[in-house]
Amino acid sequence: MKTIFEISKPGRKAYTLPQSDVPGELMESLPSRFKRENPLRLPEVSEVDAVRHWTNLSQLNYHIEKGFYPLGSCTMKYNPKINEETGGLPGFTEIHPLQPASSVQGALEIMHKLGQMMSEITGLPSVSFQPVAGAHGETTGLMLARAYFESKGENRESVLIPDSSHGTNPASTTLSGFKSEKLSSNERGLVNIDELEEKMDEKVAVFMLTNPNTLGLFESNLKRIVDIVHKKGGLLYLDGANLNALLGIMNPGKVGFDIVHLNLHKTFSTPHGGGGPGGGGLAVRDDIEPFLPVPIVKKGDSGYYLDYNYPHSIGKIHSFYGNFNVLVKAYTYLLMLGSKGLRRVSENSIINANYLKESLKDDYELPYKQPAMHEFVLSGSKQRKLGVKTLDIAKRLLDLGFHAPTIYFPLIVTEALMIEPTETESKETLDAFISAMKRIADEAVNEPEALKNAPVTTPVRRLDEVKAARELKVRHTWDTENE
Ligand SMILES: *Cc1c(COP(=O)(O)O)cnc(C)c1O
Repeated sequence: MKTIFEISKPGRKAYTLPQSDVPGELMESLPSRFKRENPLRLPEVSEVDAVRHWTNLSQLNYHIEKGFYPLGSCTMKYNPKINEETGGLPGFTEIHPLQPASSVQGALEIMHKLGQMMSEITGLPSVSFQPVAGAHGETTGLMLARAYFESKGENRESVLIPDSSHGTNPASTTLSGFKSEKLSSNERGLVNIDELEEKMDEKVAVFMLTNPNTLGLFESNLKRIVDIVHKKGGLLYLDGANLNALLGIMNPGKVGFDIVHLNLHKTFSTPHGGGGPGGGGLAVRDDIEPFLPVPIVKKGDSGYYLDYNYPHSIGKIHSFYGNFNVLVKAYTYLLMLGSKGLRRVSENSIINANYLKESLKDDYELPYKQPAMHEFVLSGSKQRKLGVKTLDIAKRLLDLGFHAPTIYFPLIVTEALMIEPTETESKETLDAFISAMKRIADEAVNEPEALKNAPVTTPVRRLDEVKAARELKVRHTWDTENE
């Protein structure tokens, strides 16, 4: 397919602008350093060419509106279109962040009410929506932990992280100035309690737990974990990015978690990746509230207002108030579902994952056999013995019309295939995916060479991902010879 620059023809237009009414002398009087020396080379195409170009591009890409997207840990679920309707209302898109609070009461009300809902879901009283991604929420949460311990005059240096946690956890730990220390998992894929007990001391600030962990398993020893961490004065952090497995089932605050981040762009159906900016809401225990980023939306006698009066606040971690438009979408989703509906979300995400797991466990190695939560991890180790790599399996899935699952993660499973169907898929879609996976398992036995050549039906074959990252080319180079 040609780039839009290549279909460009001088003088062709999709849009007719009125004649410029800026007087010629004014243009002449501009200092020359502000004047463009050569005309800006923008592509020139007609409206129909522009529309066809973008429509064709959208069909080259794989996306959630094209098909099943079982990318583990990423929760690529279908996001209802009504979220876009409400998020796009002019009353929300045409306001300015510096408007006086009295003129944006509706927007503040949404932020406040969404905070109350998140507080109910997490069981923690204070919420900030300033972080704009999961990892941003983690970093902010750890900055809060740092401020909390400093205020108590305690010098704690490290954060304990199980080897089954999400990769952003150690990264956020380093960014916020702590040392990360790894905990190994036991043979059932859960936190090794003895090791936790041994490593948890007064130098440890936070124990950061991803639950369900990246094996898709529920950490069941929570009471012991809470006791061990709190006995040494540490804080228990829940990476709640994948809360779509726990809604209405586990209340983190009641269990004893002190800080939780949520991914609005996963659990609460706001788009992510190329589809839109994220939202990484953060909920904390009451004695950590004084350190939250400012401002906090409050309700007073004369309406909603932005409270900056937090002298111990860590400050701001994003411009203004976070990604407001994303909050409107999450709020819409919550209002649509209500508390019963939210629990159904989790029940469906769990049953879908277990249906896939049980259907595929004879064809692929299943290293951890207990019931899964919203996702599960297979290993391509059987196929590897036949000379077929997990990468080949993933590429072949593209030929069969599916996005590949997350592969080679978590690191503790060899040839990992991390599969998350999400709650928005029908049984027919799941069955079609199961057939494709079974077909690939057969092909690994009968025609392994075909798998190594996959994909053959996609617009591009295997890309050199390392080269793409190292030698990034984001600028079109005009082919001057052909002009
Ligand atoms: C996705 C994810 C994150 C990171 O979220 P981003 O919004 O991508 O920064 C953190 N933890 C877990 C468990 C996740 O699945």
